[in-house]
Amino acid sequence: MISFELSDEQKAIQKVAREFAEKEIRPVAAEYDEEEKYPEHFIATAFKAGMTYLYVPEEYGGQGMDFLTACIVGEEIAWGCCGFATILGANNLGTTPLLVAGTEEQKKKYFGELTSRPSLAAMALTEPDVGSDAAGVKTTAVRDSGDYVLNGTKCFISNGGMADLTTVFASTDPSRGVRGLSCFLVPAGNPGISGGKKERKMGVRASTTCEVILSECRVPASDLLGEEGKGFKIAMITLDKARVSVACNSVGIARAALEAAVDYAKGRVQFGKAIAENQAIQFMLADMSMDIEAARLMYMKAAWMETQDMPFTNQAAFAKTFCSDMAMRVTTDVVQVFGGYGYMRDYPVEKYMRDAKINQIWDGTNQIQRIVMARALLGR
Ligand SMILES: Cc1cc2nc3c(=O)[nH]c(=O)nc-3n(C[C@H](O)[C@H](O)[C@H](O)COP(=O)(O)OP(=O)(O)OC[C@H]3O[C@@H](n4cnc5c(N)ncnc54)[C@H](O)[C@@H]3O)c2cc1C
Repeated sequence: MISFELSDEQKAIQKVAREFAEKEIRPVAAEYDEEEKYPEHFIATAFKAGMTYLYVPEEYGGQGMDFLTACIVGEEIAWGCCGFATILGANNLGTTPLLVAGTEEQKKKYFGELTSRPSLAAMALTEPDVGSDAAGVKTTAVRDSGDYVLNGTKCFISNGGMADLTTVFASTDPSRGVRGLSCFLVPAGNPGISGGKKERKMGVRASTTCEVILSECRVPASDLLGEEGKGFKIAMITLDKARVSVACNSVGIARAALEAAVDYAKGRVQFGKAIAENQAIQFMLADMSMDIEAARLMYMKAAWMETQDMPFTNQAAFAKTFCSDMAMRVTTDVVQVFGGYGYMRDYPVEKYMRDAKINQIWDGTNQIQRIVMARALLGR
């Protein structure tokens, strides 16, 4: 049974999320972007408003939303600012491995700590020499009686160095490539984990992106997630969800950009009439609205498939790629509609364009997503 109508409950949650973005994010988004500053207050505000750990079940202290509803909220938060959305998105990225592979005891312990107060989580997979090809992870985890000892450097980690919990991917058997990858829970109090270089970025500048250094980091064996060698599978299941989140964030950015373009086109007068009176501008706006509609349907289908326990890897790749490419097209065209003013920092649209770009790169680049799609087509 297919319905294109949100339920009353979903509409109510969407409204709350939109109002939250309108009140708590939009007024300060430009300031945090300009100063490339982490909004210290934000996680407490989001916690109070019920905007954290959206799809973590209520029994573990989360909001207990289904994944589709969480994505609808995600679109609204990214409509507010994709940098702020990244802070909350990294929390989901960091805790999805725990949801996917945690024992009851691990979930109770760690979600109990994370969901009872404002908190941050991070997922650390990427390394300086290891991006798209996770098989090459160099961070090692060596068994030493009741512990594992982790050593290595992770880079580009969202919420890195400041997270209360970091899920770290390390190799317990480098000779086995991806089959030697394992996943560990590393809480902030561990003296072996620390933040390194903080990155300076093109966009999503309210979010902190940092190196994470693991130096003789002792992790009790009870904090291994799943079994040794199952880390790659945990990462892939986590990334399927993350890709749909990237997709809904992209739609949020594009929608914000289109709204700005419509307003501007109605008010900007050239040759004695509003630029919106020109068919060339109208067609650009029309194409943008059509693109956004198609993209929204795509992320919603992928998220819905997740709620139905259907395999959704390919649909997640479609959604991530289409929605992020769409957001790049739309935000670039919106800058064009604004003309020279679009290029200036006084208006929000150059920020939308900068923020949109990352969605084509992270959580598996759009080239890697096309490899996923081609494999499905070719039956590999
Ligand atoms: C702001 C930001 C935040 C991030 N947050 C996190 C985080 O929280 N946790 C985390 O673990 N990682 C994070 N990342 C890392 C991110 O997921 C990686 O940057 C991404 O997966 C790409 O890896 P790479 O940068 O090493 O690019 P590379 O893998 O070096 O790729 C470079 C280029 O080559 C292309 N390419 C590579 N292999 C192929 C191939 N086989 N066929 C065709 N093209 C190919 C890629 O598509 C890309 O265009 C973040 C990155 C950024 C920029």
